[in-house]
Amino acid sequence: MIDQSNWAGKPYFPISQVYKARFGSKVVKIPVSIADNCPNRAGLKGMQTCIFCDEHGSFAYPESQGDAIREQIENHRAKVAARFNASKFLVYFQAYTTTFTGLSRLKEGFDVALSYPDVAGLVVGTRPDTLSDAVLRTWKEYAEKTFVGIELGVQSFDDDQLIWMRRGHTAAQAIKGIERVAATGVDVGIHLIFGWPTENEKQIVETALLCNQLPISNVKLHNLHVLKNTPLEQMYADGKFEPADLDLYSSRVALFLEHLSPKIAVHRLAALSSRWDELIAPAWTRHKMKSYQGIIDRINDRGAYQGRLFKT
Ligand code: SF4
Repeated sequence: MIDQSNWAGKPYFPISQVYKARFGSKVVKIPVSIADNCPNRAGLKGMQTCIFCDEHGSFAYPESQGDAIREQIENHRAKVAARFNASKFLVYFQAYTTTFTGLSRLKEGFDVALSYPDVAGLVVGTRPDTLSDAVLRTWKEYAEKTFVGIELGVQSFDDDQLIWMRRGHTAAQAIKGIERVAATGVDVGIHLIFGWPTENEKQIVETALLCNQLPISNVKLHNLHVLKNTPLEQMYADGKFEPADLDLYSSRVALFLEHLSPKIAVHRLAALSSRWDELIAPAWTRHKMKSYQGIIDRINDRGAYQGRLFKT
């Protein structure tokens, strides 16, 4: 019997409840950027921009890219505090590949973030293959004095899909990265994308089963959407890619959740473009609440919920 008492009425274990239990009150993330590049965009080892990535490296506030970290924290904190009615925060180093920047810059960003009394910890987004030993040691040091969460952009555990999206790393490298980060004792989450052209139900189930075996505490789900100024935009225009519709994507999410351990927290169920005018397709993700509710309704219609088919 799965204890759903702290799921806040959702068919999955929401990360908000984890934060509430850990920090004693609602905590929301303040997205900031200290990186302005990544191995793909820099063309390292012949790598290319990931096909889905927008020009801002998935930053929620691209207009403040390049602003001082203090300025970003204060401006974005005001926005998220008003929007989510929160008074406690995690500073989320979100854009591009955060570890593709100097270690001193990373530490400076951490120290500025932690100088605010209402900041309860740090969250870092990065790739699973851009992790030096020095970066891992730094996270370990900071984790001794505050909460440190690392979100790794895994996207898929299927090598063919990784090649298709031009990630420049393999599934084996992603798994190794997850294990290296987890060994430092920090909190580890991964980002996954569903809606690939060759995707099938077996892969979705296998992805959930693999997540259950890995040392991760949370997952963030995205649908593969088409944004302006991305390689995928051209593929979509050429008729070489069609995004999953709401029914198909919801069925993928439901299947994944059913096999996922109920102990792994879920950030969110779908991708949202940072700017409303950036989205090209699918139209069903244009309205945040509508698309979120659409997925929830379809999960509930199937009688699905996280861990329903999970076996220890
Ligand atoms: S998804 Fe990350 S690694 Fe890929 S191009 Fe964008 S910033 Fe670079």
